[in-house]
Amino acid sequence: MRPLIAGNWKMHGSLTEAASLAEAVQAGAGGAAELLVCPPFPYLVPVAGKLSGGAVALGGQDCHAAAKGAHTGDVAAPMLRDVGARYVILGHSERRANHAETDAAVRAKAEAALAAGLVPIVCVGESEAERLAAQAEPVVTGQLDGSLPDGFAAAGGVVAYEPVWAIGTGRTPTEAEIAAIHAAIRANLKTRFGAAGGGLRILYGGSVKPANAKAILALPDVDGALVGGASLVAADFLAIAAGV
Ligand code: PGA
Repeated sequence: MRPLIAGNWKMHGSLTEAASLAEAVQAGAGGAAELLVCPPFPYLVPVAGKLSGGAVALGGQDCHAAAKGAHTGDVAAPMLRDVGARYVILGHSERRANHAETDAAVRAKAEAALAAGLVPIVCVGESEAERLAAQAEPVVTGQLDGSLPDGFAAAGGVVAYEPVWAIGTGRTPTEAEIAAIHAAIRANLKTRFGAAGGGLRILYGGSVKPANAKAILALPDVDGALVGGASLVAADFLAIAAGV
């Protein structure tokens, strides 16, 4: 399967910076990996204007569970599709923590994404306390069971494993720990979705940098990366993608 290198720009940058970052990523596209950028909502349209030829995909960082309605401040999945997004990140740990998003809420959003023709990237990951208590695997598989909708595999849904304690900290699990949890995620997907679960992409996220990307991306069942901080520097993002 083609690896996916996804940039999660979070709430960073100005309009000018978003446009020039998109231009630089577009200029460096064309390698083995599929590239995806997920800018803040106000920059989706101008960034889309910088991405030509489909070499770099566009994604949102969240969507509402309803297709439309009286939801001040929210963004609907069909709106994302309308401006050219193909993907949407859902259930990021920052959303789960800052907006009290439960597995059920993430699942409802993923249903909405599927209905709108978007590919959901559903994030899962344990806290540091859970890892220290040897609960990483059950926590992550529990999140998968609760967050993934039934239509997930048929739509080519993506899972992103992001240990909460590795996000933005410069710390990562060991390669053996990443491989073990990705194997557990793969097993969960196969149990749930049958053979189709074997073909879904599982991304690793959490302090992915050019220096560690190649080794992480070479691990079994690591089918790409969800990159935060390093995705804000085009040269670093492209260097990570070159490591697939
Ligand atoms: P990071 O963020 O690469 O800055 O650790 C990853 C993410 O939160 O998606």
